[in-house]
Amino acid sequence: MPHDEFAIAQEAMVEDQIVARGIRNPDVLDAMRKVPRHAFCVAEQKPYAYEDRPLPIGHGQTISQPYIVALMSELLQVQRHHSVLEIGTGSGYQAAVLSHLVSHLITIERISPLARRAMEIYSSLGYDSIDVEVADGYDGYAPGAPYDRILVTAAPEKIPPALTEQLAEGGRLVIPAGTYPQRMIVVNKRAGRLITEKHISVVFVPLRRGIDQG
Ligand code: SAH
Repeated sequence: MPHDEFAIAQEAMVEDQIVARGIRNPDVLDAMRKVPRHAFCVAEQKPYAYEDRPLPIGHGQTISQPYIVALMSELLQVQRHHSVLEIGTGSGYQAAVLSHLVSHLITIERISPLARRAMEIYSSLGYDSIDVEVADGYDGYAPGAPYDRILVTAAPEKIPPALTEQLAEGGRLVIPAGTYPQRMIVVNKRAGRLITEKHISVVFVPLRRGIDQG
């Protein structure tokens, strides 16, 4: 697909899938207009990059549906100075969107070849504020803790305790959790207490344990 066709498809994606479904945060909409989703898709899926669905990226994983990326980015209520952790780098697309909203972020992935692929895409596009690490997100990521914001893009049955432990006071965790179909959950930490909100039903790949060197 020629470059301008991608641009037209991307603008239609933002209007028809994201604005039309009620995402209003102007910074999130701006980020969804800027990040080239096709750059994060595998070659044979690029023609479908701006369609309203997740797409396979290899290793049994997917790049999330654009609306879900926008919804999670909005639910995160991120500010530029926040320390942010994403669990489940996958293609790297969600973290690229977040990188337009925050000065710096860490994203972790358990499948080493996917982490490497995301790093290559970031360097080719000039994204230099995203730190990609290979780690098991069940344990959060202690080196950068505590975090003001944690976003998880794979679903556990129960929220791993390390994630709420590594959340800063006033922090917010956005995570799909439960059994199929999962629910999008937001956890706020206020005065040391955890306050949970349930949002829409969603379908995510499972959060798995351990590192996979591919
Ligand atoms: N945010 C991604 C969505 C990727 S799908 C994107 O924008 O493309 C979820 C990813 O979570 C997969 O790549 C999967 O390997 C990863 N994952 C699953 N369990 C994990 C764990 N325990 N720690 C880190 N990553 C994990």
